[in-house]
Amino acid sequence: MKEKSSNRKIHPIVRPMAGVAGRTSEWRTQRPELKNELCTKCMMCVIHCPDDVINLDTNGFPVIDQYYCKGCMICQEVCPHSAIDEIETLPGGEFDA
Ligand code: SF4
Ligand code: SF4
Repeated sequence: MKEKSSNRKIHPIVRPMAGVAGRTSEWRTQRPELKNELCTKCMMCVIHCPDDVINLDTNGFPVIDQYYCKGCMICQEVCPHSAIDEIETLPGGEFDA
């Protein structure tokens, strides 16, 4: 029988928080736009957003806080149903409150 390694490293889990880096929408040159008609509510985008800015509406669809979304587009990368479009924006400008 194999013994468990005693020098296994334990890493802390840090939960991201919206707004810790300020109004991050000012940085971005693109923003995500959701297409609910393609969304299966799988939560992949919610789980992977590094800034924790995707919440759920009362019907279980994701809603992006465009004020703090930094436009990294990881949500689009992980969406298995192509339910997130990429919209070009100007830095320091547009956001949907
Ligand atoms: S682009 Fe998507 S993953 Fe990146 S911060 Fe905005 S909502 Fe989160
Ligand atoms: S990853 Fe795509 S399909 Fe899944 S909840 Fe997000 S938008 Fe909807």
